[in-house]
Amino acid sequence: MTKANSKKAVPGQQADRQAMIIAPDDHPVREKDIEQEALKVLYRLRDAGYSGYLVGGGVRDLYLGNAPKDFDISTDAHPGQLRKLFRNSRTIGRRFRLVQVFFRGNKIIEVSTLRSQSEYDINGPDKVLPSNNTFGTLQEDAFRRDLTINSLFFEIETKTIIDYVGGVQDLDNGIIRIVGEPARRITRDPVRILRAIRHAARNGFSIEQQTWEAIVAHRQKLDLCPPSRIRDELLKDLHTGTSCAWAEISLKSKVFTTLFPFYKPLLEGEKSTTVQEQLLALLRVLDRLYTESSGKGKVVIADHMLFAVVLFPWAVERFNLLDQDLKGAGYHKLSKAIRAELNDVFSHRLNLKRMAKDAITTLFVNMPGFQRHQRNNSWPAWMRRKSYFADCSKFYGLYQEAMGNDPVDVCLFVPKNKKTGRIQPVKTNQATSTGNRGGGKRGSNPAFSADKQGVFGLRQG
Ligand code: ATP
Ligand code: MG
Repeated sequence: MTKANSKKAVPGQQADRQAMIIAPDDHPVREKDIEQEALKVLYRLRDAGYSGYLVGGGVRDLYLGNAPKDFDISTDAHPGQLRKLFRNSRTIGRRFRLVQVFFRGNKIIEVSTLRSQSEYDINGPDKVLPSNNTFGTLQEDAFRRDLTINSLFFEIETKTIIDYVGGVQDLDNGIIRIVGEPARRITRDPVRILRAIRHAARNGFSIEQQTWEAIVAHRQKLDLCPPSRIRDELLKDLHTGTSCAWAEISLKSKVFTTLFPFYKPLLEGEKSTTVQEQLLALLRVLDRLYTESSGKGKVVIADHMLFAVVLFPWAVERFNLLDQDLKGAGYHKLSKAIRAELNDVFSHRLNLKRMAKDAITTLFVNMPGFQRHQRNNSWPAWMRRKSYFADCSKFYGLYQEAMGNDPVDVCLFVPKNKKTGRIQPVKTNQATSTGNRGGGKRGSNPAFSADKQGVFGLRQG
């Protein structure tokens, strides 16, 4: 490991502007672990005289020995130069132009030019730069990123890791630290709160003190973010198989009640422990389903069901849900009450489509019936014929497992081919994101459910 500057490094702080260069023998990132298409892009850039770096989550995950979700590439080549270099490519994005390079098998690699500003910071109060003035140096690109562990560059020519922010030290020590001054970076983009919690939960890392204090102090600023962005970020947390750890950190920092204010009276009242335990138990089931599906196909849980899991302990208390004996008018009355309340609680938050709220209502209102008519995990024929049966029985199974009963069958959550009834082959993630944004049109967008019902009224293309 070499370091051009002898000053003591303060991880995450810009004061120490010299990079730490970590030699190939001193880090575990190996070329063989990088996707072929990403390597092709990196080598084409190098051969054309540009620099090419693997950045962000790709470096972080390879360093930790995990399989990256996508391989983000940055370069000093500008979008116009990239378009000339890669014939089969297109430019996307208005303010921050990214180049998507297309490969066989619908593989897309996204390449971004090094930047001086995060696209989220640019809308901040102190500075608005014109769109042609955002390209930056490697150093500036490191400092515009969210967390130190996400700000590392793997340089393809020398196979070194370049670290301006102390990210390697934080990876070694299991620390989540916002780059720069946490309070300011969070104020400029409160979604960084969610990103810090996500990576702490995913990797079992602890959140550094200053970052933690800024999260707690500024959590209410999440209210200023577009609901759709919050929704997409939350879905990532619920999908990752570490949602229980996510909830534990969110509850402790009170970010959870910022996101779901209607939980506040419950979590501050006498039932707080029961409600928290129920919530964590439900999320543990989700995590098990996502992580224990090996050999059985890819588990797909519709977005509305993920949100239903998060809301269920609240709904149980709010509507005295499990003690209801519903018939005719009572069923419709409760259904209307749940639906109206969902409208209310989701009105300023998450931006869920009507269909999603309807589907959550159906799950909740049918739980008492599912409970009452269940005999040895079987239901009467009239119930099995109901259009809601499949969805509700999955949710009921999930709830039962959370209550300490038999584990729900993973296969229920693996989509089957409608004609053959067989489990569908696993689809690989087709797009690779340069990852300077969470959702959007690129890469896999969690706002789109893989479920054919298209929970937010949108279908995946
Ligand atoms: P994942 O494994 O979930 O893809 P990731 O870190 O790669 O994790 P992305 O959303 O793909 O997450 O973002 C790619 C990179 O872009 C991040 O590693 C980080 O460097 C940068 N980034 C993303 N969101 C922000 C943000 N809000 N502010 C600053 N930098 C960000
Ligand atoms: Mg990524």
